[in-house]
Amino acid sequence: MNRIGHWIGGKAVAGGGRVGPVYNPATGEQAAEVALASKAEVDAVVANAAAAQAAWAATPPLIRARVMFKWKELLETHRDAIAKLITLEHGKTHEDAKGEMVRGIEVVEFACGIPHLLKGDFTPDVGRGIDAYSMRQPLGVVAGITPFNFPGMIGLWMAPMAIATGNAFVWKPSEKDPSTSLRIAELAMEAGLPAGILNVVQGDKEAVDALLTHPTVQAISFVGSTPIGEYVYKTGTANGKRVQALCGAKNHMVIMPDADLDQATDALMGAGYGSAGERCMAISIAVAVGNVGDQLIDRLAPRVAKLKVGPGLDPDSEMGPLVTKEHLAKVKGYVDTGVKEGAKLVVDGRGLKLQGYENGYFMGGCLFDNVTADMKIYKEEIFGPVLGVVRAKNYAEALKLVNDHEYGNGTAIFTRDGDAARSFANDVKVGMVGVNVPIPVPVAYHSFGGWKRSIFGDRNAYGAEGVGFYTKVKTTTVRWPTGIKSGAEFVMPTMK
Ligand code: NAD
Repeated sequence: MNRIGHWIGGKAVAGGGRVGPVYNPATGEQAAEVALASKAEVDAVVANAAAAQAAWAATPPLIRARVMFKWKELLETHRDAIAKLITLEHGKTHEDAKGEMVRGIEVVEFACGIPHLLKGDFTPDVGRGIDAYSMRQPLGVVAGITPFNFPGMIGLWMAPMAIATGNAFVWKPSEKDPSTSLRIAELAMEAGLPAGILNVVQGDKEAVDALLTHPTVQAISFVGSTPIGEYVYKTGTANGKRVQALCGAKNHMVIMPDADLDQATDALMGAGYGSAGERCMAISIAVAVGNVGDQLIDRLAPRVAKLKVGPGLDPDSEMGPLVTKEHLAKVKGYVDTGVKEGAKLVVDGRGLKLQGYENGYFMGGCLFDNVTADMKIYKEEIFGPVLGVVRAKNYAEALKLVNDHEYGNGTAIFTRDGDAARSFANDVKVGMVGVNVPIPVPVAYHSFGGWKRSIFGDRNAYGAEGVGFYTKVKTTTVRWPTGIKSGAEFVMPTMK
């Protein structure tokens, strides 16, 4: 059995002890086993990272930026091969996996500007003959815990920002699709990153808990589901760490009566069923405002029924399998629940079977009409190819639905009315908003983060927010001897 291990101190390490299975979701076959680190192994990784960090922090930002440039080039050169690793373990289509890598590499590209991003403030004459300057310094050893659904991109939201700012980074990827992280770390080393600055430790709860309680680890970036994110936030902060935990979602797309319905239908197809709905920015609820509901269902139903479902490496596939057998069962269970709750199942993809891939974790797209706010399929994140249509009488009712939902990651409005769009963007209680853009994932020089129970912590991922998260401010006030003797001062210094 192929064994997937760790990347520690610039070397591949097999790891000992417990292992977990890694499957090819298209075939249902076990493809490898992944090492699951013990607390002692995590301690060793953190010690290794700590030993390397001081010299890296003392390396001028321009030199660190040059490593980022080289890493970006190498990631681009190997992008398609890494995307294939993603497809084989996650299941998403190869084109989608390539797109994921591009969006991750863009954060490395942003980190190439680190000398400018770390430029401090200087103020002359804060007092007579006194100057002050502020700078941002790295935290030390920081860790990232990432979900299965973007095995490349989300590690790249974190690692380049953490490393370029002078920290050592310990990455704990999802145990469901662990190979991508190792290749990304290996290329960083090839780019000239010193050993110990980017480490990968594979594992599950035991490794996560070891990181959350380790006294040397200064900050934790987490992306994953809300229950685990809340646990990570509470445990990490209770142990004195900075924590940013980006979590689950239930993203609504509001379709106004004046929207271009062909465009809205295209948008819903891609945003609802792309990556089999396993995206935190997937649209899972379409809010049809006024009289557009029937027209929308008429347009969507035949297209959902005809979705090309197949293995991710088949260039004709629009949607691959779900990530695991358990997740497939969970998503189908939600569809069963929706039927029981009284929503109208317009397209039922539960029975899909693919010839030659009978053991793969495939299902077809599902479309519900007449979903209501009290239903479980409305309230909970399904994370599968299941789109629900909710009818709203008017804009105010649609806005209230979005604002009352416990999640607030992403949302979109489709309309030709600038005034409605502007009001929506201002009034909606959601972190990322699209106007006629269904999946408004911010580019690398903005930042990513939801509101409400889609995030714990007060810093978004990447962009200037990432620089802030991975650094602390130091302000120095300087006076050089001037010959003026003021004597000892026993009161709070003020300008004279
Ligand atoms: P998950 O919460 O199950 O796992 C995330 C990470 O936590 C993994 O590394 C996993 O090993 C670890 N983990 C799992 N159980 C744990 C436990 N009991 N204790 C400690 N650590 C544990 O999430 P997932 O299923 O891998 O990913 C899907 C979820 O991630 C969805 O809810 C999705 O919305 C969310 N997500 C959010 C964003 C965002 O930016 N807001 C982006 C991508 C995915």
